[in-house]
Amino acid sequence: MRMSEEKEEGGCLFCRIVSGEIPSKKVYEDANTFAFLDINPRNPGHTLVIPKKHYSTLFDMGEKDVGRLFESVKLVAEAVRKGSGADGLSLIQSNGKAAGQVVSHLHVHLIPRFMNEGPVSPEAILAPKKMPEQVLDKLASAIKDKMRPQRDSGEIKFDF
Ligand code: AMP
Ligand code: ZN
Repeated sequence: MRMSEEKEEGGCLFCRIVSGEIPSKKVYEDANTFAFLDINPRNPGHTLVIPKKHYSTLFDMGEKDVGRLFESVKLVAEAVRKGSGADGLSLIQSNGKAAGQVVSHLHVHLIPRFMNEGPVSPEAILAPKKMPEQVLDKLASAIKDKMRPQRDSGEIKFDF
């Protein structure tokens, strides 16, 4: 059994970090959001921003709450970049096992990036695939078909 699975048995790991039951290197907190250093930093200053309320993935959260979360992401990202002296910063947010999500409490990785350290996403995650025009058209139309009204406003706004 992996470490993260063991910890999940006692309740959600990140919920326990928010409550203070499990210690963390907290860098930011407001009414809805909590941010702390990743315990296995991919680079110095690697920070996780999470909603205080438990949502497993982005798909479980309403648009307005996602908006609030990303306002905090922007705020924390600026501080992380300046505080770590990074040249750039990658945001990574994985939803579901297939995407590599290990801790099932929605989180956004803020990873400071430095010049000349190798490939940057998305090529670092998956190699680009050649897709014929027909396939692209099919995919675009399948995605548009699944576009539901915005949950919080009740309106669909398409610009095309
Ligand atoms: P993910 O693979 O996107 O689910 O990322 C989960 C992240 O949580 C990993 O980068 C872990 O290093 C990090 N992590 C796991 N446990 C802790 C902890 N107790 N404190 C801080 N970060 C943690
Ligand atoms: Zn949780």
